[in-house]
Amino acid sequence: MSTPALQPARGTHDLIGDEFRRHQQVIDAARHIASLYGFEEWATPVFEDTRVFSRSLGDTSDVVTKEMYTFTDRGGESVTLRPENTAGVCRALVSNGLTQSNLPRKVFYAGPMFRYERPQKGRYRQFHQIGIEVLGAAEPLADAEVIACGWHIQQELGISEGTVLEVNTLGDRPSREAYRAALVEYFTAHKDRLSEDSRMRLEKNPLRILDSKDRNDQALMAGAPTIHQYLTPEAAAFYDGLRRHLDAFKVPYRENPRIVRGLDYYNHTAFEFVTDRLGAQGTVMGGGRYDGLVEQMGGPNTPSVGWAAGVERLSLLLEAAGLTPAAPRAVAVIPVGEAAEAAAISLLQLLRGAGLVAEMAYRGNLKRRMERANRIKAAAALILGDDELAKGVVVVRNLDDGTQAEVPLDGVIAALAETEVDGAMEATLAAQMEGELEAMMEAEDEAPPPPRKRR
Ligand code: ATP
Ligand code: MG
Repeated sequence: MSTPALQPARGTHDLIGDEFRRHQQVIDAARHIASLYGFEEWATPVFEDTRVFSRSLGDTSDVVTKEMYTFTDRGGESVTLRPENTAGVCRALVSNGLTQSNLPRKVFYAGPMFRYERPQKGRYRQFHQIGIEVLGAAEPLADAEVIACGWHIQQELGISEGTVLEVNTLGDRPSREAYRAALVEYFTAHKDRLSEDSRMRLEKNPLRILDSKDRNDQALMAGAPTIHQYLTPEAAAFYDGLRRHLDAFKVPYRENPRIVRGLDYYNHTAFEFVTDRLGAQGTVMGGGRYDGLVEQMGGPNTPSVGWAAGVERLSLLLEAAGLTPAAPRAVAVIPVGEAAEAAAISLLQLLRGAGLVAEMAYRGNLKRRMERANRIKAAAALILGDDELAKGVVVVRNLDDGTQAEVPLDGVIAALAETEVDGAMEATLAAQMEGELEAMMEAEDEAPPPPRKRR
């Protein structure tokens, strides 16, 4: 009886081939651009003391109320697989005693996150985020730079045409309290039309209703007051500063008073990069200012701002734009006969040492090895038989146009570089060599198969 093949756990997925390369492209581009903006990379643990999240993300966010992977470990500690990384970075700032010196700290991270969600395209239970945080900066210029960096990453990836930046302000505490009261008044008047979740939000965190994905809630929001008329002069000035700096960075944006972000810790700036290319999962990057978070981790007042982006969603945008990176093409080294094998291994390592992708099959005759070279889409085959060995040469065959030439062993790297630049090799020589190669293959077909070595 055969065992049924196991599948990945619900909401998880494997990254293989094109998908892996797109994923890596997103992370590489983000890491590179973030470094140009002066961000250093941190890696924090994948699981944390549950309090890191329950304290910081607030009591009303979906993440804390429904989505966390929390369990008690064998020692009786409650730990949680991180649903996001801002809390972990703030915790690390405090735990490592970094809250007093070298502020602002500019941190980049990339890694897996975990949320118990209903899986669908662009929404998984294990997904990956890239993100940046500026810790210890109270100026709106920091907010604008953080956004500019996110925009720059999307430009670098070639997908910025498919996304739109939406910005909003959540004001400071007095602004938000005044706005909160206005929202409670408005939604209470329409309470019977609110979803059950939002009726609960009305008590705990009415701002959160603006983030509701329920149709009826969304219809109600059209008539809801916006925060703008409740902003204190300071909060209004901060928001003006943000917009002025975004203009200076030449980052296009539109204002959307409905953006509140999914987590409870934001103030002043809130923003999202949205797209209409991913169906319901329209947000690819989201963030804002979270001035109170480091304090909630037991640190000093450390105003901060950052964003996180879904690697899978950015990767889907790359795919939709036809921007899947090509796999690097190998050079296939092909020994013919046992004597050539050791020399072929030397050649293989020479190529790798020169930074070329080089492959050699573990077994097979010339024909099989050529077939494999074509199957892995090798750019060239380097064929090394007894004759070549005696002459100190190797046959370099361009697998795109079939041309080939004999090249001295010590000139192979240069020849390969040339092949790439000007494509074909000398035609007459190639034709002559072609004949030889075919003759070699025929001879191989006729010869009795070499006895398999037994061990
Ligand atoms: P959404 O509204 O789509 O649930 P969110 O507000 O919960 O997003 P954040 O917590 O701000 O998202 O995370 C930042 C980014 O991480 C999102 O914009 C999205 O690109 C990505 N993301 C969040 N949750 C998931 C998930 N379950 N699967 C894949 N990507 C995700
Ligand atoms: Mg969510």
